[in-house]
Amino acid sequence: MEEYRSSVLLIYTGGTIGMKEDPRDQSLKPFDFGQILQEVPELRKFACRIDVHTFTPLIDSSDVEPAMWKRLAALIRDRYDEYDGFVVLHGTDTMAFSASALSFMLEGLGKPVIFTGSQLPIGRPRTDGKENLVSSVEIASARGEDGGAAVPEVCIYFNSKLLRGNRCTKVNSEGFTAFDSANYPPLAEAGISIRYNTAAIRYPAPGSRSLKVRTSLDTRVSILKLHPGITPRVVGNILLGEETRAVIIETYGAGNAPSKEWFLDIVKEACGRGKILLNVTQCLHGGVDMDIYATGKKLKEAGVVSGYDSTTESALAKLFCLMGETEDNEAVKRGLRVSLCGEISQI
Ligand code: ASP
Repeated sequence: MEEYRSSVLLIYTGGTIGMKEDPRDQSLKPFDFGQILQEVPELRKFACRIDVHTFTPLIDSSDVEPAMWKRLAALIRDRYDEYDGFVVLHGTDTMAFSASALSFMLEGLGKPVIFTGSQLPIGRPRTDGKENLVSSVEIASARGEDGGAAVPEVCIYFNSKLLRGNRCTKVNSEGFTAFDSANYPPLAEAGISIRYNTAAIRYPAPGSRSLKVRTSLDTRVSILKLHPGITPRVVGNILLGEETRAVIIETYGAGNAPSKEWFLDIVKEACGRGKILLNVTQCLHGGVDMDIYATGKKLKEAGVVSGYDSTTESALAKLFCLMGETEDNEAVKRGLRVSLCGEISQI
């Protein structure tokens, strides 16, 4: 009988990491997860019990929907007491959305939930999938000096870096450094050993509540990306659309938007109708400060809320969760201004 010191649940949802080439048409198709364990015998060397849960159907992450996040959150809740940590194998395309969503949905999390995947299928000789998977398992089972989880957060591990999930964006469709956390330092870096950046990691307060899963998500959110030449019709359709309760406006630089009267009139009308308008910058680094430029000030005066240094992925997930909890848009706006789980730097 093997002696295990820890236990990890590996949750396979789909994505490149578990794909292999179909010899008939050379397209990538998901294969049985049992084969992944054969591909990575290194996993058996950990003194860690690794159980596998495979989602059916396996999906390309372009097909991820909030219903899948609920399944994932429910699975982690149901198996929470059985494992020291969880590794989620997920396609890279929407991994930053899913990791953001789970960070808000798993309230009071005290164990690691590590998302990972790969740019090259695990069966290929130069795959990045093996290192990503093996290190993720090590991190998910690691303990800190006090015996608690080394990283009790929802994270993305990719190409030697452990990043806070709700700070990540996919920045490269080819290179192995697929993710960046531009506004927050890595939580750990893997070299000869894995170095944890304990000053950056969030630990649950002593005596804090146990895990609570938010399952109610309100998805009535749109994203409006500003660009030169944008028309009143496009802006009006999105900001005033019946089906949207909130709109993330991806603005320029420090949170700037056109100063044209028609633009501000639509913004004011949307705010007047009680809609939630959240200002998130198109820039990867830095955040929104609506007090710097006149155009930003006007947005603030109209009632637009600052997204600070949030990513769009995180802003979307946070809105889904906050709006799912209440119909009161003012309460949602108050929630947007505070950091719930390290997603913004301003508190
Ligand atoms: N299209 C794939 C997905 O996101 C790409 C990947 O896995 O990296 O599922």
